[in-house]
Amino acid sequence: MLGSSLALRRVFVSVAPTSRGASAAFVAMNLAVAAARAGVPAALVDGEVESPGVAASLAAAPQGSAEVSRTLAAVAADACTGCAACVDACTYGAIRLAEGKAVAFDELCRGCAACLRACTAGAIAERKERVGEIEWARLVGGLAGPAVLDVVSGRLDVGRSERPAVIEAARRRSAVFARLLTVIVSPAGVSRAAVAAQRGADVLVLVAEPTKQGVRGLERAVGLGRMIEAPIGVVVDGAGPCEGEVEKLAASRGVPVLARIPDRPAIAAMRASGGIVLDGLEHASGWVDELFAGVSVLAGRSAE
Ligand code: SF4
Ligand code: SF4
Repeated sequence: MLGSSLALRRVFVSVAPTSRGASAAFVAMNLAVAAARAGVPAALVDGEVESPGVAASLAAAPQGSAEVSRTLAAVAADACTGCAACVDACTYGAIRLAEGKAVAFDELCRGCAACLRACTAGAIAERKERVGEIEWARLVGGLAGPAVLDVVSGRLDVGRSERPAVIEAARRRSAVFARLLTVIVSPAGVSRAAVAAQRGADVLVLVAEPTKQGVRGLERAVGLGRMIEAPIGVVVDGAGPCEGEVEKLAASRGVPVLARIPDRPAIAAMRASGGIVLDGLEHASGWVDELFAGVSVLAGRSAE
């Protein structure tokens, strides 16, 4: 059953795969749906912004959307005096002088506005550039049981690379709903996008396949988890050639194994199609209860 730590205060859980094949979205969906069915209002954020699939898996029809854009510096060359104050102010090396005029480089610009503040000639303005969008939906009753489940998805535009900006926008949107439990699907790896999805987590759940990649990724992911100071738990994802290695590494790092997703063809099929085990495979859903219990304990620890 749901532990008291998840029922009494807001908890933010980030679920990250330690290799590309691990089922973080499947784990996060099952956790959030089970929480909602246990009466805990929840939000589920899809941070796999290059190919979000959670909303489709839950048949959550979008009820709202918003564009995600980044801010860039735009120089009006005719107003520029060539004083170079902006060049000195930019710590990213994103603005330089060329033939006596300032030129901003979009690929380096972080939109911090330091140059804009430094320019007394008023030659720099902010410019918005679209990088993606977020969508949200609300499930009430039915799949979500007696509580509410908000689903927020981020989607990066094709050809763009600003994953962190889209993830942060999706997180901001989910924060508006202020649900007791927020679960985010984090991208794999230790990139800025992963940090954007894991920063501030009360609990970081690492979903690790017992494969070489899964174990190697677990080591790196634990390192990132330590850096952001999140209590970490591991879910062992099915079976593989490195049986027992995930548990061994987790034990050596003092990280608890919260649950094991059974290695059954029916679960593998459901994992691939993104289903809810409580509906299709109730007899094989014990790991979701174990995950609840483990997440609750870790959330309680992070509150101490
Ligand atoms: S601070 Fe303003 S005026 Fe000076 S170089 Fe930069 S853009 Fe031009
Ligand atoms: S907005 Fe910030 S990063 Fe971009 S050019 Fe200006 S100072 Fe540099």
